[in-house]
Amino acid sequence: MKKIYGNEYLLKTLSNMITSGKTAHSVIIHGEKGTGKKLIADYYTQQLLCNNPIDGKACGECVSCRNVENHMHPDVTYVGTEGKLEGYSVSTARKIITDAFVKPNNNTGRKIYIFRDCRNMSVQTQNVLLKIIEEPPDYAYFIFTAESKYEFLSTIISRCICLAVSQCTEQETISALAELSYSESDIQKAVECFHGNIGACIDYISDEKIHKRIDLTKSIADSIIRGNEYELNRAFYSVGTERNELYDVFAVLDKFFRDCAVLSVNKNAEIIGCFREQALRLSGIIPQYKAVRIHNIIEESRKAVQLNVNALLAVTSLCAEIMKIIY
Ligand SMILES: [Zn+2]
Repeated sequence: MKKIYGNEYLLKTLSNMITSGKTAHSVIIHGEKGTGKKLIADYYTQQLLCNNPIDGKACGECVSCRNVENHMHPDVTYVGTEGKLEGYSVSTARKIITDAFVKPNNNTGRKIYIFRDCRNMSVQTQNVLLKIIEEPPDYAYFIFTAESKYEFLSTIISRCICLAVSQCTEQETISALAELSYSESDIQKAVECFHGNIGACIDYISDEKIHKRIDLTKSIADSIIRGNEYELNRAFYSVGTERNELYDVFAVLDKFFRDCAVLSVNKNAEIIGCFREQALRLSGIIPQYKAVRIHNIIEESRKAVQLNVNALLAVTSLCAEIMKIIY
């Protein structure tokens, strides 16, 4: 299995569960996109199914470990999503419950269900799953990954062990990327933009589309600094109306304003976003409270797009609001 960088506390928690025999039947692994949630879900699955665990860690060599690594283990189900929004339906949840009552065949006697990238899971689906999470068969395990644990109802959260995945240090990210044989200059640019988020760095280096998206968000930031609403609209419109593209631009822009708020108090503060120079410049133009207000309206626009408000309308209104707040 791929090496997991950082997150020592989380990995230790999982190993302790295995050695103490108190394994959590329902786990929510949450954290920013690119920080390795799916890898950690596989890691826990391997621990649960390994035939020869050593100090709570999977051996990585037995048949079970190899099958988990190759996503071919007969008792591991990667639950499928449906539709444009890639959601988990009520009927899928019901099928999982029926399946969970069929005993496993493997030596460890466990069955694992993995729900990846949970986003906007409906209340109905969650309520169906709640029944099995409340009283799972001894051998059944449910692992959810999501950017935020608040994607779930409080009734679900209270019955799960929630494990927060964090970014690595920049040094760890550099080591991870060097191991993948990327060039030094690619690594440097990627880490400048995405710091300790290994997945985001890899995507940035290997996916031309993400490169373009970052450049585009940079031009959005530049037009905001210049106070040019026409340019701002034009840059934003070129993102298009595809929901996930817009979410990603909103996310990068949101970090930009959060950096701006932090830098307006301390010019040497660490940043989380991609554009230090621009954030520093804007922090000289607007006070912290305005940056926070813009952070809030970006979140509102994200929700509007999520609720199917016309994307162009949401973007136009966001541009106007940003300009009104700043100038
Ligand atoms: Zn093993």
